[in-house]
Amino acid sequence: PFEHMSKSDTILLRKRLVGESCKLFFRSDPLKIVRAEAQYMYDEQGRAYLDCINNVAHVGHCQPDVVAAASRQLAVLNTNNRFLHDNLVLCAQRITDLMPEPLSVCFFVNSGSEANDLALRLARAHTKHQDVITLDHAYHGHLSTLIEISPYKFRQIPNHKQADWVHVAPVPDVYRGKYRESEHPGEDMGALYAEDVRRLCEKATAGGGGVACYIAESLQSCGGQVVPPPNYLREVFRHVRAAGGVCICDEVQVGFGRVGSHWWAFQLQGEDIVPDIVTMGKPMGNGYPVAAVVTTRAVADSFRDTGVEYFNTYGGNPVSCAVANAVLQVIEDQKLLQHAQDVGDYLLARCRELQGRHSLIGDVRGVGLFVGIELVVDRTTREPATAEAQHVLSRMKDESILLSSDGPDRNVLKLKPPMVFSKQNVDTVIEVLDQVLAELADEHADLEPEHAHQTNGKTNGILAH
Ligand code: PMP
Repeated sequence: PFEHMSKSDTILLRKRLVGESCKLFFRSDPLKIVRAEAQYMYDEQGRAYLDCINNVAHVGHCQPDVVAAASRQLAVLNTNNRFLHDNLVLCAQRITDLMPEPLSVCFFVNSGSEANDLALRLARAHTKHQDVITLDHAYHGHLSTLIEISPYKFRQIPNHKQADWVHVAPVPDVYRGKYRESEHPGEDMGALYAEDVRRLCEKATAGGGGVACYIAESLQSCGGQVVPPPNYLREVFRHVRAAGGVCICDEVQVGFGRVGSHWWAFQLQGEDIVPDIVTMGKPMGNGYPVAAVVTTRAVADSFRDTGVEYFNTYGGNPVSCAVANAVLQVIEDQKLLQHAQDVGDYLLARCRELQGRHSLIGDVRGVGLFVGIELVVDRTTREPATAEAQHVLSRMKDESILLSSDGPDRNVLKLKPPMVFSKQNVDTVIEVLDQVLAELADEHADLEPEHAHQTNGKTNGILAH
């Protein structure tokens, strides 16, 4: 009942009609998913897959209250935001109520990319500066401006010339990054990484562009599920503001309670950490395109004072806002923050238990339902186990579990499941992962040690952002 054609015909038509830059998950044997419910996705044969990666389906795939809110509103009115509508102002009220002061003004858009692009415009209008400080390996969206500040993408472009208004700061990754905790015992790692940002501020100021903004995910996802060390954002914000710039937190992946203890991941760094601009998307619509920028009255006023109207045909339409309001309601009704914290703590503990048994696991990190398992060939050299990670993804898929990998070396298994993920789901994933890692260890044991890590060259895994 859910298919119009056979899977092979779907593949043929897609090959013929769709741009090949649009990549599929599991390229050598792609999945055809025809329906989904909560944390499960079903293929055309009715086989269920446990979804460990879909942070967009935040409150669960096809959550009934969200579906009902969307269809009800779609049957009554959908139009642009130049007309008054209660859904829009109620949504703005709900979101700003969840933000610390003085983040009190909303702009509604349709995607994370639109949100970040608008955030850059706001920052430039407010500071009258041009330059942007971004993190290495960052991804902030697919628009031209955002590719320029996304090393994750621009490093793949042959002969790409980094724009002179872009400054790339190191990822505050204390495991594999520029400064490693193991090499700086007892040091304030946050301040150390922030010092690089301070130097870039100086460079931007000296170059004449001035610092318009620092933009980063509050926890870097594409960079490999990185949790910044304590004090990082506090010190970065101090340096950026001293240079006359504003601070943007991209919460497109990690917002809406995924971290469990707070609604927004920047709050993990302390109650005193307040960005000037926050961007959000993905989970906000549970799969329906709705996103937003939240900022201060001062920044919004600077943007108004440019005299240029901001109009976005679909941004904040009554259906989008009905969906976002329903998502927020479900998060509250089902106490999903508490749930993310409980299940997330359990997940982390069980991953660390696995780390004790498998030397391939170099690091386990995360918070709430945002977890990374970094695979390494050797715990001392930390050489990334890229091929092994791809093999794990492929084997997990055979066992009906959808995982993905990320990070510059694609060796970090990432878990960011729908928030309804259960402890039983955790047990399933850990049990299967345990088995797959044991298989890998057995294969390695049979090989010459110096060649062992090059043998599992399956590369049909998922790279998801
Ligand atoms: N920011 C981050 C951190 C993202 O991960 C993404 C998408 N993966 C975006 C922005 C862009 O969002 P969208 O694809 O909705 O435009």
